[in-house]
Amino acid sequence: MNFSRLALLAFIVALIVAFFAFDLDNYLTLEALKAQQDAIGSYRSTHPVMAVAIYALIYIAVTGLSLPGAAILTLAGGAVFGLLWGTLIVSFASSIGATLAFLAARFLFRDAVKARFGERLQAIDAGVAKDGALYLFTLRLVPVFPFFVINLAMGLTHLKTQTFYWVSQVGMLAGTVVYVNAGTQLGQLESLSGILSPGLIGSFVLLGIFPLIAHKIVEAIQANKIYAQWPKPARFDNNIVVIGAGSGGLVTSYIAAAVKAKVTLIEKHKMGGDCLNTGCVPSKALIRSAKLLAQIRNASDFGIKKADAEFDFAEVMNRVQAVIKTVEPHDSVQRYSDLGVEVVEGEAKILSPWEVQVTAAGETRTITARSIVIAAGARPLVPPIPGIEDIAYLTSDNLWALRELPKRLVILGGGPIGCELAQSFARFGSKVVLVEMLPRLLIREDSDVADIVIAKFRQEGIEVLVEHTAKQFIIDNGEKILLAEHQGQQVRIAFDQVLLALGRVANTQGYGLEELGVELSPKRTIAINAFQQTNYPNIFAVGDVSGPFQFTHTAAHQAWYAAVNALFGGFKKFRTDYSVIPWATFIDPEVARVGLNEQDATEQGIAYEVSTYHLDDLDRAITDGVAQGFVKVLTQPGKDRILGVTIVGEHAGELLAEFVLAMKHGLGLNKILGTIHIYPTLAEANKYVAGVWKRNHVPEGLLRCVGRFHAWRRG
Ligand SMILES: Cc1cc2nc3c(=O)[nH]c(=O)nc-3n(C[C@H](O)[C@H](O)[C@H](O)COP(=O)(O)OP(=O)(O)OC[C@H]3O[C@@H](n4cnc5c(N)ncnc54)[C@H](O)[C@@H]3O)c2cc1C
Repeated sequence: MNFSRLALLAFIVALIVAFFAFDLDNYLTLEALKAQQDAIGSYRSTHPVMAVAIYALIYIAVTGLSLPGAAILTLAGGAVFGLLWGTLIVSFASSIGATLAFLAARFLFRDAVKARFGERLQAIDAGVAKDGALYLFTLRLVPVFPFFVINLAMGLTHLKTQTFYWVSQVGMLAGTVVYVNAGTQLGQLESLSGILSPGLIGSFVLLGIFPLIAHKIVEAIQANKIYAQWPKPARFDNNIVVIGAGSGGLVTSYIAAAVKAKVTLIEKHKMGGDCLNTGCVPSKALIRSAKLLAQIRNASDFGIKKADAEFDFAEVMNRVQAVIKTVEPHDSVQRYSDLGVEVVEGEAKILSPWEVQVTAAGETRTITARSIVIAAGARPLVPPIPGIEDIAYLTSDNLWALRELPKRLVILGGGPIGCELAQSFARFGSKVVLVEMLPRLLIREDSDVADIVIAKFRQEGIEVLVEHTAKQFIIDNGEKILLAEHQGQQVRIAFDQVLLALGRVANTQGYGLEELGVELSPKRTIAINAFQQTNYPNIFAVGDVSGPFQFTHTAAHQAWYAAVNALFGGFKKFRTDYSVIPWATFIDPEVARVGLNEQDATEQGIAYEVSTYHLDDLDRAITDGVAQGFVKVLTQPGKDRILGVTIVGEHAGELLAEFVLAMKHGLGLNKILGTIHIYPTLAEANKYVAGVWKRNHVPEGLLRCVGRFHAWRRG
């Protein structure tokens, strides 16, 4: 906590302590009020303006400091100023006081709460942004939670101050009138408890929950309105129809079939989708061959005098296909049919929220289903760079048909796919130029990660051009040239082949979404809510087509939620849990991350501490000749709670698993430190980084005492 926060906290605590120490609470009782009523009344007659000012200030102080006594003060308002003026003064004073308490809670504790509950708070903030005013209104009217708790709790959310103020003022008005009115009859009041009769409380509850219920009804009507133009079938062929048999579609179907639902999976191209055919599997197979080649080239580093590798690029690419063939049965029609899924190899088109048309082998049929899950994936982005259509560009879709190694290869895009392929092709012997528009590669990662990657790439002969924007492709004297712009200057890059690795665009056209009016997000992916639902609640979307992540494991993760919500959402719906999402970029050295890195934490205003362990110190990394990279852990200040981990190094993706498990199950660095790790393994790095954290948090005072104790024992 910084100085200004500490000072304010100390000031508030001092005022509260003084309030009780001077027994000021004794003045805020019904008896004291009755006893003083005449004296206060006569002061008010002689000094009307001053009386209002003093009264309002006391009221604001009591509510602003969350002290007990607001109810008595409200009665006093009625007793001293009458119904109209009392209501007016109390209404403003109570709203101002509540807002001060709200602001104080926000200033003092919001950052700390954000640091502790970052991701979860985001979900609450999203809810507050949508329905916060309604909830606050209900809370103000339904006398379940004390007002001071509401003030403080709302201060921790993202609710706008002005919204808090006016909703509070309107929401508290009914209660204020009742109490002020009771105050006008002060002489007949025996206790506070009689003011709100059960009937009156019931009316308040009804008044409070009415807007909430009305809001829910309007939401339900709006949701149903979207279905109005589509006749609903009396009965359905299926429980679910799934469009696309990539990672997202396969897992959705698997889960639906496992719980005995009737599910049809439609795939228009290849079972397994992008990951198996053009993504993870072929790229990792290619990376493996390239890595072996690099290792052979570096054999002398390992005491081997001569090791030559002769290779034929076409054979490497044939092996890639062989690997795909070996994995293929996992995603095959046969396997999924055996699991109880009806698999149709054809093209799907959504006709209505409950009807999907399938065209397979020239035949068309329509399947009706209670729910539709769209898992149609994404495709490589091809930007409209002038001249691009005149060169036969490569993407991750057609790259795998290549059998001749490009001599000079330009790769546009320094993200994970661009980096993985740049290093592989360079290792096979292509002269690779990696062109990135932004100031560094792997822009989502911290700059220390990019520094290691760029250094390694340059050492391996890759020309890394950052802050270079591709402007035009031309063919000059039969030679293909990329014209790029760098700091206002034109740069000419000659090449034989160009590979576009500029991101992936969701497949949202040509299969019925436009006709139905399925909404898209600003990123042109299908817009989904926390339950994977589109604007048609029975149509779900998962994987690359919806985002927000584009990984096989996140598509599979979302698929569970889509399948369960589609089948059982009528009873209970589950929000997709994005709290712990790991990923890796399979370059050498590998880069893996889970949770926050420094740039994310800084952007989100989350306080953190960093513990870093460098792999050049690790025995196993040294013996294996892979002593480069680091394990960097972000923790909550003063605590061992892990906020995020970045690992750069050999097998980083595998090493990260321990932290993913720890974060998922709330285990801190102390637990990792207290776990036996086999010697000598790379995984020991995880324990050592926990040791770094521990050393930075040793209780110095205690150690000094222990040192003195040992000295005393030595005599
Ligand atoms: C080079 C590369 C490397 C990658 N490496 C990794 C990695 O290492 N790790 C990782 O996690 N991710 C990786 N990815 C990303 C990963 O491949 C995707 O995130 C994942 O495959 C997305 O799965 P999906 O189910 O959403 O879509 P897809 O796998 O794209 O599946 C969508 C399917 O829907 C079908 N389809 C579309 N429209 C219709 C229709 N109208 N009717 C019927 N079928 C239709 C398509 O034919 C396709 O088969 C990589 C991607 C690339 C390009």
